Amino acid sequence: MATENLLEVRNLKKHFTVANDFFGRPTATLKAVDDVSFSIAPGETLGLVGESGCGKSTTGRTIIGLYKPTGGEVLFNGKPLSTLAANNAACREIQMIFQDPYASLNPRMTVGDIVGEPLDIHGLAQGEARTKRVQELLSLVGLNAEHANRFPHEFSGGQRQRVGIARALAVNPKLIICDEPISALDVSIQAQVVNLLEKLQRELGLTYLFIAHDLAMVKYISRRVAVMYLGKIVELAETDELYSKPRHPYTQALLSAIPIPDPEVEATRERIRLEGDVPNPINPPSGCYFRTRCQYATEKCAKEQPELKELDGHAVACHMVAESNEA
Ligand code: SF4
Repeated sequence: MATENLLEVRNLKKHFTVANDFFGRPTATLKAVDDVSFSIAPGETLGLVGESGCGKSTTGRTIIGLYKPTGGEVLFNGKPLSTLAANNAACREIQMIFQDPYASLNPRMTVGDIVGEPLDIHGLAQGEARTKRVQELLSLVGLNAEHANRFPHEFSGGQRQRVGIARALAVNPKLIICDEPISALDVSIQAQVVNLLEKLQRELGLTYLFIAHDLAMVKYISRRVAVMYLGKIVELAETDELYSKPRHPYTQALLSAIPIPDPEVEATRERIRLEGDVPNPINPPSGCYFRTRCQYATEKCAKEQPELKELDGHAVACHMVAESNEA
């Protein structure tokens, strides 16, 4: 059956048992991803943002199958990924780019072998065809044929990330999960990698889930943005809407921390300071997980967990926003 969305994540959960009793029964659970739902249309980029430890990378890794989900399902082109065999063509169509380009590349392999490895594993090209395809992939990411004989340590961070991108492209994916692909790079190189990802998206019709904590860069590349806090999505909207009219108090605080490149405006603007630390995810607060840091928290916030409710394409999980929508 034809489907509008390339990826649909429904009520995804990934819980880790972090302590057991004498009999091996779990006594403490970390709910890294807790009932997360979103979809991505073909050719779209969805940004997934939040502070470190909010569960955004675990969400990406659970979608691609690096972690077994505790609950929920992931549909790719309308089919549940869990029912597809690992060598199924649909599984190849989802690839991942990792945060640390050096750690994700085998230092003992040449770049040609790193980029060619997926071709070998899936039997997609051999001999001369393989060499030609590797050269094609390297040129696609702005490297040249001669780079194929070098080792990862001979490259800069930005070039290594290009190698990681070429490896992901080797199997002609439709969806790429970009897990903080620019966080480990120098600021001057970050824009180059983001521009490359945009160029590839235009040329190859790629769809991205772009995971990052840099809100300015996410704004630049994403059509829609989802904000995560302690394993849950608290706000999801079109990029322009979310950045101009953030409704969740957490999103408002995150956005108010982005520096404005105008010294006069920067000196006078009001910044929302978050009180306290991020709560322990093993023992989150009752009700709304954000209530211990929220200046608007009420008694209801301590008792009831707010649902993610959508109004005109702008979804927010907050009692205060829900009440103002109903008023
Ligand atoms: Fe703040 Fe309550 Fe909204 Fe949570 S539900 S963000 S505590 S107002």
